[in-house]
Amino acid sequence: MRAVRLEEFGGSLIVAEVPVPQPGAGQVLVEVRACAVDRFDTAIRAQVRERAELPLILGHEISGVVAGVGEGADRWREGDRVVTSLYLTCGYCRWCRRGRETICENFGGHIGVNVPGGYAQYTVLPASNLVGLPESVDFPAGSLLANVIGTPFHALVKRMRLTPAEHLIVTGGGGGVGLHAIQIGVMLGARVMGVDLGAAKLAAMRDAGAEWVVDPGESDLVAAAQEWTSGIGVDGVLELVGPATMPATLQSLAKGGRMVIVGSHTGSDWKIDPGLIYRNEWEILGSRNVTVDELSTVATLVDNGRIRPIVAGLHPLEDAEILHQRVLDGVVLGRDVLLPNGESPG
Ligand SMILES: [Zn+2]
Repeated sequence: MRAVRLEEFGGSLIVAEVPVPQPGAGQVLVEVRACAVDRFDTAIRAQVRERAELPLILGHEISGVVAGVGEGADRWREGDRVVTSLYLTCGYCRWCRRGRETICENFGGHIGVNVPGGYAQYTVLPASNLVGLPESVDFPAGSLLANVIGTPFHALVKRMRLTPAEHLIVTGGGGGVGLHAIQIGVMLGARVMGVDLGAAKLAAMRDAGAEWVVDPGESDLVAAAQEWTSGIGVDGVLELVGPATMPATLQSLAKGGRMVIVGSHTGSDWKIDPGLIYRNEWEILGSRNVTVDELSTVATLVDNGRIRPIVAGLHPLEDAEILHQRVLDGVVLGRDVLLPNGESPG
């Protein structure tokens, strides 16, 4: 099969012929029909994130068709359309048993990092990670379900418990996760302010449903949030940026507000006065990825047209290098998607 291989950290993405993998016990062979490309892939490649074994086939945002089934994985059949969650979890620790496998005690890493991923015509995936992809959702859209839609779904529904008519700020709202977070906020009945840099991202956030958009390079975020909420402050902040925006978003929280931190790509130092937290009864929460159960709900919501996956472009495997550069340049609106088995997205 054809696959894009990373042979050295920071090196080129090389299309190579490699053997089709075989599914072991509890595994399924999937013909990869679409694999989205994101910042995590570029970070693994540059070795600024989790350590991977080389050579590596990147790619964790995968949709496809079951092409083979290993021992004990026969709840899946050849021809089934599927998407996968990307975490390798144990299934038996106390958190997995409670349906909170995103904090698995025996976390085994990520598909596309610790096992081969989806920049290839075929890949082997854990059967327990898979969810059926509805017929109405094409494969490129399907490749967005777990990461780019599932992540904000888990953050806003399970962790923030966002309710109708609340005010929500989404920082990094013009990125892939952010644009879908805005849609989910609107779907939940909240009012959403999107925060990001540049006219293109402001426009995309409006298209996604944000009623108010702010470029913090152009205007004062705290003042905007105060004006938007008539001085009350916002009920929720979804932080996809980190310390660069957190002082302002924290200052924008209303009493009883919740900040959910999903990403922090602007550093790791953050000072906070504990008095502010207890006096305001604020909740500062973390959120990580999506559970398989939630992924199933996300698939239904996309099937029903409640969330619209934003696919930026469709590309052959040879374009992997170009797509990484587009991620690094910050010009992708939604997600660029690789089609390892060719053009037909449906
Ligand atoms: Zn576990």
